[in-house]
Formats: sequence, C-alpha cells, structure tokens
Amino acid sequence: MELTSRQEKIVEIVKNSGPITGEHIADQLSLTRATLRPDLAILTMAGYLDARPRVGYFYTGKTGTQLLADKVKHITVNDYLSRPVVVQQSITIYDAICAMFLEDVGTLFVVDTDTTLVGVLSRKDLLRASLGKQALESMPVSIIMTRMPNITVCKKEDLIIEVASKLIDKQIDGLPIVIEVDRGSGYEVVGRITKTNITALLVDLANDEMI
Ligand code: ADP
Repeated sequence: MELTSRQEKIVEIVKNSGPITGEHIADQLSLTRATLRPDLAILTMAGYLDARPRVGYFYTGKTGTQLLADKVKHITVNDYLSRPVVVQQSITIYDAICAMFLEDVGTLFVVDTDTTLVGVLSRKDLLRASLGKQALESMPVSIIMTRMPNITVCKKEDLIIEVASKLIDKQIDGLPIVIEVDRGSGYEVVGRITKTNITALLVDLANDEMI
C-alpha cells in the first residue's frame, strides 16, 4: 500500500510520540480530528498503527514487507479458485485430449461413477501416451493417470501459501480442491487451484486490489 504524505507524517508522529490520541496527532498537524479520521482508519486497517481505547494510537513496528506477508498468510483457497474439469475414468485417452482442448485447462481430474476422485491427468501424461503406438481411441485414461492415494489435494479453507508450497515441492501445476465423502474414505472434487490462480493473486497484490 502506497501511503500519502499525510499518512506518512501520522506514522512518524505515532512512531515518535505514541501512544498518542487522535486529538494530539491532529494538534501536531494543525488539522481537526475529523479530517484525520479516514487516514487513521486506513493506517489501522493496513496494520501500520494499532489503537487501544483510552490509550491512543501506537506504532506496530511492522514494515511494508511484513504487512504484505501478514496479508498473504490470511488468503485462503476459497478466495482464488477455479471450477474443476472432471472426466470419467472409463473415457479414452483420445477423448481426454479433446476434453483438455475444449475446456482449455492443463489438468483433468478423473472420477469414478460415484464422482469420487480417482486420478489426475496432466498435459504431459497425455503427450507421453501419444508418443507410443497405443490405440488412443480405445485405451481408458485409468491406465495412464496418476492415481489415488498419490494425489495431492487441498480444501477450500486451506491457506493459499500452503498450496503454493505444495506446488513447488511436488513440481505440479495445480491441485484439486476437495471435500471428504464416505466418512473420509474418499474425496469429491469441488474446485481447482493452479499456478494461474496464484499469478492472479500476485497481480492483485501488486495493484492493491485484494478481494
Ligand atoms: P505436466 O506433466 O503437464 O508438466 P504437472 O507438472 O502438473 O503437468 O504434472 C506432473 C505429473 O504430476 C503428472 O504425471 C501428473 O499426473 C501429476 N500430477 C499433477 N497434479 C497432481 C496432483 N495434484 N497430485 C499428484 N500428482 C499430480
């Protein structure tokens, strides 16, 4: 967040003289308390200042980078997700390639007839299968997909920074967002989170347009 020159002056005053009341900050700037109210609200909300009743404002000591880190650590998967594209495990590799093009995604999630997650198909899984002399129009995707229990998943309430770490650790492009079904023995796919969603988050952070 870019501070205005008045907000910077307020931070300086609180840094040097805090805890200090809004009234006294206003006096030092020869302004009214009412004029300062929006600036104090912004600085408190952004985490630069803290306010205690009957004590006043004090400086939190957090730098811009620390505040940004605090903000990022509160963003959940739910804030940046996409709809999942799922296919049945019985469809052919050829049909999965068509689905990937038609749906314009890089990862397909594979489900069984009960819509329980059983596999993941990436672009390279399909490319690899296409390199051989296999009959793509008759082979089911179930023979080439990455299977449960080797699928890395996440939940809507997980932190996005944890997802980002998993994508780096596992060297994959995205995760299915799941809910537990059958008393925790299976997962239903309710969303998708990919490197693209995390790039969108980066752009929003840079533009200070966090949702
Ligand atoms: P690509 O293979 O096109 O580079 P990825 O890096 O996402 O795409 O996939 C690498 C491998 O990891 C593939 O074999 C894929 O099936 C598998 N994979 C992709 N997503 C996951 C996931 N969430 N959990 C486990 N394995 C995955």
